[in-house]
Amino acid sequence: MSDGFLKSLPKAELHLHLEGSVDPPTLSELSRRHPTPLSTANNRYRNIEDSSRIFTEDQARELYRYKDFAGFMLAFKAVTERLRTADDYELVTHRMMQKLHAQNVVHAEVYISAGVVHWRGQEFAPLFEGAERGRQRGERDFGISLYWILDAVRHFGVDEAQRVVDEAIQLKSHNVVGIGIGGDERRAGPEQFREVYEHAAKSGLRLTVHAGETVGPESIWGALRELNPDRIGHGLHAIDDPELVRYLAAKQIPVEICMTSNLMTGCCGTVEEHPVRKLFDAGVCVVLNTDDPDMFRTTLSQEYQLARDVFGFSEGELRELAKNSFRASFLPEGRKRELLGQKGL
Ligand SMILES: [Zn+2]
Repeated sequence: MSDGFLKSLPKAELHLHLEGSVDPPTLSELSRRHPTPLSTANNRYRNIEDSSRIFTEDQARELYRYKDFAGFMLAFKAVTERLRTADDYELVTHRMMQKLHAQNVVHAEVYISAGVVHWRGQEFAPLFEGAERGRQRGERDFGISLYWILDAVRHFGVDEAQRVVDEAIQLKSHNVVGIGIGGDERRAGPEQFREVYEHAAKSGLRLTVHAGETVGPESIWGALRELNPDRIGHGLHAIDDPELVRYLAAKQIPVEICMTSNLMTGCCGTVEEHPVRKLFDAGVCVVLNTDDPDMFRTTLSQEYQLARDVFGFSEGELRELAKNSFRASFLPEGRKRELLGQKGL
């Protein structure tokens, strides 16, 4: 089976952070747009010196080399510090969609970190207008659809997460379909977000949660019990609890697997140790994703390639993974059926 098959396989990407799709040339361009530090009243914004730096493409590439989760979070922060205007958001959204199109991704559900924007002391809605312009242009130019999922940072606390949910409710008519929480699982368990998630669900939003990425299966159990999510982000450590694996398979709760991400952040030691094959074989609805493709130097086709080359996924199984990406999407049922029936799947 050729790499051409993997590229031409129609796919959806469901776990993708807009900020993590900023490639080194674009980061360099953004840093030239914003050579001075962002004025902010927020005293948690410490890294002023670093934020005033102009990156060359090579320096941007260097920034994306790290060995652990903390290093990744710093790089992520350096990117978000340079996303300051609606035009910046329009630029990175359109470029992301161009790259998705090149991977034959026909539908994407993209996290946009409203929590980080608030933390910087900026209003989210005016910046989001730029992202929406980028989306509309991208949909026209590349013929793909894109939904937004507003992402809160769990260790910024419950009030902040509530604020993100309120923004998402306001923006439902602008292709915002859901909410998620990411950030440091060690510092903020799922329990405290129960009411925030209930409120989001009652308001017609779909629910995702990063869980079991940096900590064990109890974080996934907690998320399932307290937050009733439609999908689990990462779910890497589900494999440590056979009962949890059986539960995820029985309920067909999709798990957004991000292999390269897990390796690059050190959450998974070696690729061979990754549980993607075991979860798939246990009947879990596994979906392959890139998480932060440019920051992890991967593409969605490369994730499918890993599944093939390291875990021996057959052509039929790879098609099944691609089908899962449409099944697990938040698209209306009719559109899902159309996409599942398309040529090449
Ligand atoms: Zn993520």
